[in-house]
Amino acid sequence: MSELLVVGSVALDSVETPFGKVQEALGGSATYFSYSASFFTGVHLVATVGEDFPEAHLKLLEDRGVEIGGLQTSRGRTFRWSGQYGYDLSEAKTLETQLNVFAEFRPVLGEGLGRTPFLFLANIDPELQLDVLCQMKERPRLVALDTMNFWIQGKREALRRVLAEVDVVTVNDGEARQLASEPNLIRAARAISTMGPRTVVVKRGEYGALLLTEDRLFFVPAYPLESVYDPTGAGDTFAGGFMGYLAAQDRVDAAAMRRAVVYGSVMASFTVEDFSLKRLTRLTPADINERYMAFHDLIRVEP
Ligand code: AMP
Repeated sequence: MSELLVVGSVALDSVETPFGKVQEALGGSATYFSYSASFFTGVHLVATVGEDFPEAHLKLLEDRGVEIGGLQTSRGRTFRWSGQYGYDLSEAKTLETQLNVFAEFRPVLGEGLGRTPFLFLANIDPELQLDVLCQMKERPRLVALDTMNFWIQGKREALRRVLAEVDVVTVNDGEARQLASEPNLIRAARAISTMGPRTVVVKRGEYGALLLTEDRLFFVPAYPLESVYDPTGAGDTFAGGFMGYLAAQDRVDAAAMRRAVVYGSVMASFTVEDFSLKRLTRLTPADINERYMAFHDLIRVEP
């Protein structure tokens, strides 16, 4: 079993969907990722929050066993994101992004973290993703990266530099098209893999997830849920299940990647059942196993 390191955002999210809304709830790419991955293996979180960040949120992460020694409290306000979804929950409309303490943040990898074998560069400024990668004392066995339209538009150059250095990229379908400037998803995934990552995972919300690795495609549908409340964090939770499983198994081969995509889909299917991390805080390992088997049943077919 290997450990995981994640750098990304820890946020206060204000989210509105047709099924309800929350104000300044716990969110952030590294938050969802680490909470999800912690069901599989040990996770170290590197990020920053402001002085206004509620103690209770820190406790939630600690109680789950997430190692938060690398979570700095900086002077100023915590990163804030607000978004809105219509009945089509596949894409958030960003209403506001306040970088706040992230504007000045420089990640520092403390004692021993530079040798963590599995690294996830969660959605955050690609310059910070590069900075963390450069601080690694040893090339991790697997480096994965996530990003979003905000950075694809605003920091394309830095993003291309970091993409050239990673093994896996996870993006949603709109981001894949935007990054590759290519409307066809399969072509877009192939184009992204020529930018550096040998494995590309395209998250398609309610339409599932596509894996392109070693020039082969694999596809898993989304778990058919009858009530979805808030898709925020689904992508990061997916990545947490995906990387958490690989790190726990200490494997990076194509067969393990396929199972990892199913674990990612399992974890994401829970997140969307409630706002913020609420559903994940009620989750048990037995729930995860049960839903993995339900997925198995869902996609099994005789040859
Ligand atoms: P997703 O898994 O794609 O739904 O990601 C949702 C999370 O991304 C939210 O909890 C936000 O706090 C976070 N987020 C939104 N915009 C950014 C950004 N520009 N940089 C880093 N994190 C962000």
